Amino acid sequence: MGCRVYTKELEVRTSKRRDLVNITDLVESAVRESGIREGIAITFLSHATAALFANEDEPRLRRDYVALFERLVPQSGQYEHNAIDDNADAHLLTALLKQFYVFPVKEGRLVRGTWQELFLAEFDGPRARRLHVVVLGS
Ligand code: ZN
Repeated sequence: MGCRVYTKELEVRTSKRRDLVNITDLVESAVRESGIREGIAITFLSHATAALFANEDEPRLRRDYVALFERLVPQSGQYEHNAIDDNADAHLLTALLKQFYVFPVKEGRLVRGTWQELFLAEFDGPRARRLHVVVLGS
């Protein structure tokens, strides 16, 4: 039985400058559509001012993530890049996080912990973001 490759490009709309969008169901749907039961799913965000992370989706924790981002890289900070483009804070937060995430796929679903939801972290929205999903397996 050969290895199959399924690719899908998804658009994710964000609604504020710094935003968190739970994209777990989008990726689970892409895996279902792929028909691949065993393998891996690669998720990749082709952007320099948005990132991916996997963690618990709980309303208070969402506010804690946003507060952490603000402590790490304040929006009102002084940054060199702002002389040409007013979004240095968004680039810096993105550099600290990841643009890709890989999950094992088992029985047609992502393998993830109970509290692992996949988030798109927007740092320079609102925008339409491109998420690339590649599912490999059989
Ligand atoms: Zn920029």
